[in-house]
Amino acid sequence: MKTSQAYYDAKTKSYWYMPLGKHEGELIPRLLFTHPHYINWCLHNMTEGVGVKAVGSIKYFIGLFDRRPARIRCQGRPGCRERARYLAVKPAVKLAHPKYVCSRCVPEVKGYGLIETYGEALEFVEKYCRGSIVEFSKVIKYLSQGKGWRDKGKTTDMKVIRFFGLNGNHNR
Ligand SMILES: [Zn+2]
Repeated sequence: MKTSQAYYDAKTKSYWYMPLGKHEGELIPRLLFTHPHYINWCLHNMTEGVGVKAVGSIKYFIGLFDRRPARIRCQGRPGCRERARYLAVKPAVKLAHPKYVCSRCVPEVKGYGLIETYGEALEFVEKYCRGSIVEFSKVIKYLSQGKGWRDKGKTTDMKVIRFFGLNGNHNR
């Protein structure tokens, strides 16, 4: 990937590809899946120059991610047929056994942390999992699976673009 490639989308005022840093030239929405720990690092540390624009672009794609509705059914009360709204995980250093619940079934997951957005997921790992790289990936996997992401095979640019519902006419 070269920096000379066009990867700025004027319409959304965002970079599709990282304009700097160790993942320069990589598709930002893909990094949301493959390197959430790095995304978190960017959000906290890219505060100058083109880094600010990179963070703006990351936030744009996080917004798209958050707007993707949950696809999974609630696992709160037996027989609840609602669509899940929250990812529920027990606060622990190592995350495990996620559940997905609708608003009404929140009382069924007492003691769990409720996560609705990408940002909340990152904060959760910072708070309970000591910012572990593995747990960042895990929580984002849980969250995206609730939105219909299939975690099989390689996370290709095309797969990510389809998940986000982005059209393919971006120029690279
Ligand atoms: Zn429910």
